[in-house]
Amino acid sequence: MKMRTGLLIGLFAILVSGCKVSVSEDYNDSPGHDFTPGLYLDARDTGDYFPSSSWSLSQHSDDCIDETLYFETASGRVRVYGSPAYSDTDFRAAATELEHGIDGVLSRFQLRWSEFVSDRTAEVQYPGQILGCLSPSISRTEFADASISAIGILPHYSQWPYETDQIISHQLAHFVQENLSRYQARYTLLPYWFAEGQASVVAGESIASAYQHYDYDPLEDATVLDAGPADYRFEHYALAYRYLEEANGKLAMTILLDLIQLLDWEGGFEDFTDTGESWAFVEAFNAAGLVDHRNQSLTWQRYKADYHYLLSHSY
Ligand SMILES: [Zn+2]
Repeated sequence: MKMRTGLLIGLFAILVSGCKVSVSEDYNDSPGHDFTPGLYLDARDTGDYFPSSSWSLSQHSDDCIDETLYFETASGRVRVYGSPAYSDTDFRAAATELEHGIDGVLSRFQLRWSEFVSDRTAEVQYPGQILGCLSPSISRTEFADASISAIGILPHYSQWPYETDQIISHQLAHFVQENLSRYQARYTLLPYWFAEGQASVVAGESIASAYQHYDYDPLEDATVLDAGPADYRFEHYALAYRYLEEANGKLAMTILLDLIQLLDWEGGFEDFTDTGESWAFVEAFNAAGLVDHRNQSLTWQRYKADYHYLLSHSY
């Protein structure tokens, strides 16, 4: 298992860049985007420098490590760092997206902001904030990525796509799920299908119809390295996630994430199964008391072995 574990180090960066993104029309042609109030600060005055711990950052959010200028919203929850070369509108638009998006995303996890702050890993530098980074290295098609500390966002507001709200919601879902499910792990503890399925469902993206379940085996995709090229697989990750959520409720999914974090805090579950899931995920799944659509006990082993049987009897 040593080699597999080695491959998985740093997988979070791959995971978040493995998101499906489709970009079309411009976002800011539509009127009515009022920007959230706030003010500009400089880390050289406040001491609140952008985190430099690479484990907590993604490929694009670490672009801001050397930036000291940031815009902080009036609520104090959101800080957007970036080069002073970007416009006032770029900073304010990114801060507004995060400020407006987070409450809706947290409500899907059945959490209020204050509960999220106390539940998230204390290992991050700013547990009371969401950080944004106006990332010069992010592409227009990728648009945004997520890490446990920060969301990387395309800086130029004039290039934002029509689906901006949905893409930000998807990335905020990754940000929340990783903060709830990790304590000190340097890499994600969630199977790829679960992380993408939950983020897709939270963001309201399309879900495969239950009667199409034979078209794909989502539970085989424990890591991004297991995934095939077909874009429609994301709809099957969402289907596999939604089955669990519908049978158990949204709160049970948040408790599952909390249990994974607890196992990470206790230690001893750092390794991965032969099929690539973290032991923390498998143990938490089996400790969470989850059920199938008929209210029968559902272990991880049974869900994986009987996925198609369960889905074909669920509609
Ligand atoms: Zn994603």
